This record gives sequence, structure tokens and C-alpha cells, in this order.
Amino acid sequence: MSEKRPGLRALDEALAELLGFAALLPGIETVPTFEADGRVLAQDLVSGLHVPPQDNSSMDGYALRCADLTQIPGVLPVRQRIAAGSPAEPLAIGSAARIFTGAPIPAGADAVVMQEDCELQGDTVQIKARPLPGQWIRRAGEDVTLGATVLASGERLTPASLGLAASIGMAMLPVRRRPRVALFSTGDELVMPGQVAPADMKPGAIYNSNRFFLRALLLRLGCEVSDLGIVPDRLDATREALRAAAQAHDLILTSGGVSVGEEDHIKPAVQSLGELTLWQIAIKPGKPFAYGHVQDTHFIGLPGNPVSSYVTFLLLVRPFLLKLQGVRELAPVSVQAQAHFDWPRADRRREFLRVRRNGAGGLDLFPNQSSGVLTSAVWGDGLVDNAPGQTIQHGDSVRFISFAEVLR
Ligand code: AMP
Ligand code: MG
Repeated sequence: MSEKRPGLRALDEALAELLGFAALLPGIETVPTFEADGRVLAQDLVSGLHVPPQDNSSMDGYALRCADLTQIPGVLPVRQRIAAGSPAEPLAIGSAARIFTGAPIPAGADAVVMQEDCELQGDTVQIKARPLPGQWIRRAGEDVTLGATVLASGERLTPASLGLAASIGMAMLPVRRRPRVALFSTGDELVMPGQVAPADMKPGAIYNSNRFFLRALLLRLGCEVSDLGIVPDRLDATREALRAAAQAHDLILTSGGVSVGEEDHIKPAVQSLGELTLWQIAIKPGKPFAYGHVQDTHFIGLPGNPVSSYVTFLLLVRPFLLKLQGVRELAPVSVQAQAHFDWPRADRRREFLRVRRNGAGGLDLFPNQSSGVLTSAVWGDGLVDNAPGQTIQHGDSVRFISFAEVLR
């Protein structure tokens, strides 16, 4: 297995170092539970009640005491009707209660018989199947018990967790403040969609695509984005943009200009205003990656090539932004999957191949793995994490990271 080139940092090492710089941002906000999707909880949520609060029926049918049925079929008088939301009287001995889904179980009843197994005969009910004690009863506290921590500080809220928070009565939630991110793209070749029509593009011009996905990725991670547009490929302009962006932001995120060409001004500009601590990572796509700071603001420079930019964002920027917000679970879950392709040319860098799950339980490879081909990231539904120097043969077990894991 070949070693990494001198100077290139291994991904895990770089990520650990990066996360070491991602100190929790101060500040807690209280937001309506309705608006809290994707935010990070800033305190443990402890339940002040059982959920469900009382034993209740999980069927439409009849509540009864099993011991009152000496034979099957058996007949019991119906003495009570209990709908969801209304209180229940204790069950009279030797009787049944008409009951509906979600309605409280009357004291003394120990089972519900579903209405399909019953026949109403005037004001009595015939029970045709022997009930088991406890059947069709949802127990008080079977979801959440009084005093339980339902969601922990540092958890990122999902639609399901908003529902759970609501189920214990939380209308407002304490969450971490949003990271404020200044975003800009570098490149004299870049043109904004909408400003120049495709037919009028000058030779050498391309549309700025990174700006669109980076902004969207940042928003998904709960950031407040200041989109500072396109900065020309000049040292003074880059310095000026960085200096301005360092005000009132937690992170400056750039794309492009982070290689070592004469038109790449990010490195010297950051070094003149602050410090560059991380530089170049042994992954493909995505070698040009830089971390540092400009004044007190974090700086991350992503590669210009769209797929490199996309992949390094998912692998490095995402965990960084989550850590700033106090999230503890940062590593995406990867699973073993079967390659339904060959990858005969190993690279000395760790590779992240754009693949898609097929109907046969395997992974297909997008035919063009070039770092400029953004189609691969749209066609694909995840990445194969391939070790340095590793070839892949059809049928090999490989490590797969679903985009669904890292786009949340
Ligand atoms: P750079 O890292 O600036 O050398 O750019 C590497 C490649 O990515 C070049 O082909 C650039 O034209 C392209 N590129 C840089 N920034 C963008 C962007 N915002 N959108 C699309 N392509 C870009
Ligand atoms: Mg450039």
C-alpha cells in the first residue's frame, strides 16, 4: 500500500484536528417547537408526565374484565360509552364498556375486545373470542415515563423529535444559536446564472455552481448565510473580502483559489491576515482544502472543482459546523455493500467514489469520476470510501456512505 505524499494530511487526522478547533458557539435561543427542525437542542428535555398519560385503548371495541367471562361466547351488559377525550367511570362488575381508540381504559377493566370479535345485541354485547389480559391496551408511560430524558442536549432535532417534544408538552425549545457563515466564491471565470444567457457566455466563462450547493448545504445545517458573491482572482481583492467577512461571522467559507497556482490567492491572503493551520488532504476528490483563521473567525477554503467542493463539505465542513453547535454524534454511519463495478486503478489518496445502489443489492459506479463532473453527485446516492492504494473488483465488499446520512 502506498504512503501519502509528504505534506498531505490523512483525512481522519485532519478531521480530528479540525474538530479540535470547533469550540461550541456561545448562545442559546428559545424557539417555537414548530420552527426547530434541524436545530440543536441546548438542554436535556425531561418529561413532566407519562406518555401516554393514561392506559388507553388501541382498538375500537369493548373494555371488560376477563374474569367476568366464564364462557365463550359470553354476554355482558354494556353500561358505559367512552370516546377518546372523555373521562371513564370505573367498570361495574360483570359489565362491558363501549370504547374507542385512544379512549381511557375504565378502572377495573383489564382487556379490550375489538369490535370485529363482538356483536351488539340491544344493550348487551356478545363476546365471541376469549380475550387475553392486557390485550389492546396501551399502557400509561409506555412511550415516555414521567421524569425520563426524552431528548438530550446536543441532539439535532428531526421531524420525529419535534413530535416527541410536543408529546411532553413543549411548545418552545432551547436550541443552540445558528452559526453565521460568510460564503464567497473565487474565480474570474465565474458568471452568475441569470446575469448572462448561455448563448452569450464569453470564451472561458462558466457558471458559478458551487455557490448554489454550498449555500443550500449551509442552510440545511442550520447556518445563517451571508452570501458575499464572487471575489476576483487578485490578492488585494481576496484580502479585502476576507477582512470584511471576518466581521460578525463565525466562519468564512470560500471555494476555489486554494491550490498553488499563480491565480490562487487564498493561501497568501489568509496568511497575511491570520493563520493557515491545515493545508491539503490526501483524499480524492478534494485535495485542496484549507483551514485557518482570519482574526477571530474560522476560515475554511474548499477546492474550486465542484465535486471536490461538495465532497469536502460533506466530509469536513459538515461535522465542523455541527460541532460548533454542540452536536456529539458527528461521524456518518457507513455500511458494507457489494461493488457491482471494477476499480482497477488504485490511487495513493483515499478516494470517495460516486455510486448508486441498484435493485440487486449492489452499488453501481458513475462512469465519469472526474472532480468537475457534478452530474456524478446528482446521479449517485452515496460515496464509496476506498482506502489508499486499494483496487476494487466486482463483488468486493466496500464501505458505503449514503448521501442521506450526510445531507441531513
Ligand atoms: P480553482 O480551485 O480555483 O483552481 O478551480 C478549480 C476548477 O474549478 C476550475 O476549473 C474552476 O473553473 C472550477 N471552479 C472554481 N470555482 C467554481 C465555482 N464556483 N463553480 C463552478 N466551478 C468552479
Ligand atoms: Mg480559481
